[in-house]
Amino acid sequence: MGYVSGSGLRSDAARSAVTSAQSGTVAQSPAERPRQGSAGHSRVPGLARLARGLGGRLHRALARPVCPVCGARTTFSGFTENPRESGRCAICQSFNRQRQMACAIRRLHRLPMRGSFRFSAGFRIHNAEANGALHRALAAHPGYAGSEYFGPDHAPAEQVGGIRHEDLRNLSYAAGALDLVLSSDVLEHMPNPYDAHREILRVLRPGGRHIFTVPYNAGAAHDDVRAQVLNDKITYLAERLYHGDPVNPDGDGILVWTIFGREMTGKLEELGFRTQVLRLHEPRYGIIGAGAIVFDAMKPG
Ligand SMILES: [Zn+2]
Repeated sequence: MGYVSGSGLRSDAARSAVTSAQSGTVAQSPAERPRQGSAGHSRVPGLARLARGLGGRLHRALARPVCPVCGARTTFSGFTENPRESGRCAICQSFNRQRQMACAIRRLHRLPMRGSFRFSAGFRIHNAEANGALHRALAAHPGYAGSEYFGPDHAPAEQVGGIRHEDLRNLSYAAGALDLVLSSDVLEHMPNPYDAHREILRVLRPGGRHIFTVPYNAGAAHDDVRAQVLNDKITYLAERLYHGDPVNPDGDGILVWTIFGREMTGKLEELGFRTQVLRLHEPRYGIIGAGAIVFDAMKPG
């Protein structure tokens, strides 16, 4: 049983999904393919041709997939052997994992999959990411803030090179200030990730949600803790794993401390969240592969 990760490691199921996407474009099921025009029996051949042409174009337009990040009809191409981190939207350049987050956000807030994100005026969102297609798509909302983590020497909400710094274990927000917290493949990169979950629970209002992705191994009962801090020193409990760092793409990558197992959702319930696991397979939204798992942790209200 493989696990989901940004590092390129993957399961057999993911590999077979890649095979089906080798053309580089999400395959359409027969039902989604444009049908032939139905006006073929018209007695006016010219009109029949015209109707067929229009019908075909209409069907092709409606059959085009929708990107949940930019909300536009588009195409997805360039899926690689790591489908979770590839398959770019022709319009907003989103990749699969960002669309998984966007799809979950829209579904859980009953927003349409098409069009830009429209939250109610006072709705407050914090995203533990300040780059990429999803950040850009959400940034138009007045109640939105994105951040990056720049290390222990910075204060909550400090601007670092024009980007807001936040530590998910010590956020700048008042209790109950936020409606939605987003983190995508962030929590595996910190020691004691449940401290971050506890802090996120604090800043959410009752009914607010933390929607997130992490490397997750559904075949493991327990979290695979690969490193921890003991006496101010990092102790490695397993071979070191690194993921690419979008803030510093030329660096060595960021250490993976934890690959989460099934105990994660139980631990979140113990903290006070109500959790659900969304297993997505939505080729029409550019979401394919075995790693399409998004977690929804709601603060009961
Ligand atoms: Zn898009």
